[in-house]
Amino acid sequence: MEEKNISENTFNTIVVGGGIAGLTSAAFLSRSGQKVLLIEKNREFGGLVNSFTRDGFHFEAGVRALEDAGIIFPMLKDLGIHLDVIKSPVSLGIGDDIIAIETINDLVKYRELLRRNFPESESEIDEFLRIIRKIMKHMEVLYGIENPVFKDLKRDRTFIFKKLLPWLPKFIFTVGKINRMNMPVEDYLKTIIKNPALRDMISQHFFKNTPAFFALSYFSLYMDYFYPKGGVGKLSEALKNKISECGGEIKAETKIIEVLADKCLVRDANNSIYKYDNLIWAADLKTLYKIVKTEGLAPKIKEKFEETKTTMLKNRGSDSIFSLFLEVDVPLESFKKIAHGHFFYTPSKSGLGETHRKELYEMLGNFEKVEKERIITWLDKFTKLNTYEISIPGLKDPELVPPGKTGMIISLLAEYNLFIEIQKAGWLNEFTTEMENRIINVISGSIYPMLKNNIIARFSFTPLSIENRIGSSEGAIVGWSFQKTMPVVNKIQISDRSVLTPIPSIYQAGQWAYSPAGVPMSILTGKLAADKVIKNKIRTPNK
Ligand SMILES: Cc1cc2nc3c(=O)[nH]c(=O)nc-3n(C[C@H](O)[C@H](O)[C@H](O)COP(=O)(O)OP(=O)(O)OC[C@H]3O[C@@H](n4cnc5c(N)ncnc54)[C@H](O)[C@@H]3O)c2cc1C
Repeated sequence: MEEKNISENTFNTIVVGGGIAGLTSAAFLSRSGQKVLLIEKNREFGGLVNSFTRDGFHFEAGVRALEDAGIIFPMLKDLGIHLDVIKSPVSLGIGDDIIAIETINDLVKYRELLRRNFPESESEIDEFLRIIRKIMKHMEVLYGIENPVFKDLKRDRTFIFKKLLPWLPKFIFTVGKINRMNMPVEDYLKTIIKNPALRDMISQHFFKNTPAFFALSYFSLYMDYFYPKGGVGKLSEALKNKISECGGEIKAETKIIEVLADKCLVRDANNSIYKYDNLIWAADLKTLYKIVKTEGLAPKIKEKFEETKTTMLKNRGSDSIFSLFLEVDVPLESFKKIAHGHFFYTPSKSGLGETHRKELYEMLGNFEKVEKERIITWLDKFTKLNTYEISIPGLKDPELVPPGKTGMIISLLAEYNLFIEIQKAGWLNEFTTEMENRIINVISGSIYPMLKNNIIARFSFTPLSIENRIGSSEGAIVGWSFQKTMPVVNKIQISDRSVLTPIPSIYQAGQWAYSPAGVPMSILTGKLAADKVIKNKIRTPNK
């Protein structure tokens, strides 16, 4: 972009990253009357909240269903967006023992499932269920009212006096309790359960070192899952339409590669330049810290920026995921009889043990010397003993598949570094095929025998595909890894600070801005960043 065109390319706020966080920020800012530009590197919007179609089958590229968490519906209501949604109940299974979780009473079914599979650990299971019930109570408080961030607190007196004020003391009390459960879920479970296989059944589909409260709260969130009619991506589509409706500008296929902070400019990969008063960065934060030029900024700001940059770059993204997509020539009814369309399934009750951690890290520590056969033997164990998240979009919305057929996504947590090493060694495609074959063998050999011989087409996304598509460091799917101290805010009571960066005109939002994150927190930080920008419209420069 030449200098003379810069005035056309000048905005009150530029939002970089058209994932769910950036879409939220841009929607609220354009509704407030600001001149807003949302920039997204891909053709499609939504980032990890995105659906796509292949051969008439609809699939999710990222998250498989959504949890309201007291955030998504209030956000939609605040923006006046109507979204058709369907409840998305979850099934849980071990071997051929499957239960459906539909109401809070189904917790009893979960206890029975664990007791049937681990009869020797009855009292530990009871203690574990007691804790889950306690957590559910905390969750009821946390999400007990519509999130105040989406309410007009200046005008809505009824909300303030009837809901917010009575809720606040309970909230503060509950936050104290939650903060005491911040230790890694694996360590927390060791304090109540001796049997390692039972601990694995409960925790092996969580990210390594997930804070105990966040992990165990999923048992309440299972009842909270919903699915937009037409696919998860409909949520992103609705927000994108809202931005356009409110006069916001949207630019797809535009990757930002440089931020000139002192001049409040961003540059894209085609060398076009855009000017902002405020910038919201709603994408990978390591990328932001690498591409910001700080020349010309006040020394104090520069110093703080360099300090934060060092911390950010030292940390890594969360675990990533391997997803296998299947187009199957079997009607939905056959799958419906077995489990819901959102299914957490563990074929073996032996547990992963150290397969996904110690054994893998040993191989990675010495990768050039590790023989292919050893990796394949490891892969055998990894796929047999793991827990899978299985999603069948057609069981949530039957219009998402061609008649008589079923689309299925089978995924499991995967280590980014393994895929990097295998790529370097030159056999990524072969490894991916080996992994796909094993997953199909395990799932058709256990819960869905009809898969065998009925797969019309298949393809998969590795951690490297995620990194390439959404520019997420280490292919992370929920922001920062929990294995080190997270370099961002991680306490709900100070979540509004999570969107600040050392540079006054630059804000951050999304899964990298607050930890632990997911769709609801990405939306919340998107809104918090928009609020800060609106409040600080007239800012002093960065000098
Ligand atoms: C398989 C799977 C299951 C999940 N399950 C759950 C779940 O059950 N519950 C839950 O809450 N969360 C879940 N998540 C996580 C959740 O989807 C994400 O945390 C959330 O969607 C992140 O949103 P975001 O907007 O912060 O980031 P992203 O979705 O990563 O969006 C960032 C956007 O920025 C764009 N971008 C990047 N760099 C640039 C650049 N330089 N210039 C321009 N654009 C750029 C990217 O293309 C992308 O569109 C899951 C994710 C996956 C993949």
